[in-house]
Amino acid sequence: MKIGILSQDANLYSTRRLHEACQQRGHEAVIINALRCYMNINSVQPSIHFEGTDLIGFDAIIPRIGSDITFYGCAVLRQFEMMDVFSVNQSIAISRSRDKLRSLQLLSREGVGMPVTGFASKPDDVLDLIKMVGGAPLVIKLLEGTQGIGVVLAETQKAAESVIEAFLGLKAHIMVQEYIEEAGGADIRCFVIGGKVIAAMKRQAAEGEFRSNLHRGGSASLIRITPEERKTAIAAAKAMGLSVAGVDLLRSKRGPLIMEVNSSPGLEGIEAATGKDIAGMIIDHIEKNAGKSRRNLKNQ
Ligand code: ADP
Ligand code: MG
Repeated sequence: MKIGILSQDANLYSTRRLHEACQQRGHEAVIINALRCYMNINSVQPSIHFEGTDLIGFDAIIPRIGSDITFYGCAVLRQFEMMDVFSVNQSIAISRSRDKLRSLQLLSREGVGMPVTGFASKPDDVLDLIKMVGGAPLVIKLLEGTQGIGVVLAETQKAAESVIEAFLGLKAHIMVQEYIEEAGGADIRCFVIGGKVIAAMKRQAAEGEFRSNLHRGGSASLIRITPEERKTAIAAAKAMGLSVAGVDLLRSKRGPLIMEVNSSPGLEGIEAATGKDIAGMIIDHIEKNAGKSRRNLKNQ
């Protein structure tokens, strides 16, 4: 097969591993920088050009679209979809998952557990917003944040009020969330492929930190998840419409709570923690599914 990896950086661990896994299985792999693609949108023969050539003959695309280029990256992926090329995750599901608020709304509709969350743009009554989610301690999140940046723990009512007011003063959209203290600074990343959790790791925050992001000094280790956690992770990926997803959940007194669902989950941490060939499993998934079913693109 000819497989395109939509990635801006050929040297990233995940990109390299996917490229390698394609080649190991005898496929041709091309790394495509979405920002450098230009498209011809027409009803007869839509096309995509990259470095002066027409990108044709692809059987599948593995989208690894950075959160800073979601808009254009998804447009390029959508163009491949218009050309009937199989994508590991569809553009619509990726854009959905990039919006934290929209994601939580979709997950709540499916009845998936999540921390009590409030959302505000310009509330007249910050005190009521705080009360609505159960009072301090609270986690306040910038909607656009990633890698733990823009996630703040406000331990007291006063701290919550001033952080919320400061963020709103900057005209930022924020989420105000119940703090799950019993998670103890740890979260669980479940790696879902094709409706199955194929690997899971626990990320533990560094001493004195509540955010478990590896970028914030967290450390990863192997973990056995419970059947309920497995079920929740699968339901979350399904609710987002993602075939490949990194589902992050917190262990709480009332069971697993979803924090976010990532459409381009990194491979480095999880392959190191579990020793599994996850890149290879993504290619296996493509081999099983590419060309099998044509998607209904009408609901784009
Ligand atoms: P980002 O997208 O920046 O990674 P997250 O929502 O995943 O933001 O939050 C970063 C980290 O902060 C999480 O991995 C988790 O360890 C911690 N965290 C986030 N929300 C909560 C919460 N409601 N209760 C406890 N810890 C949380
Ligand atoms: Mg996170």
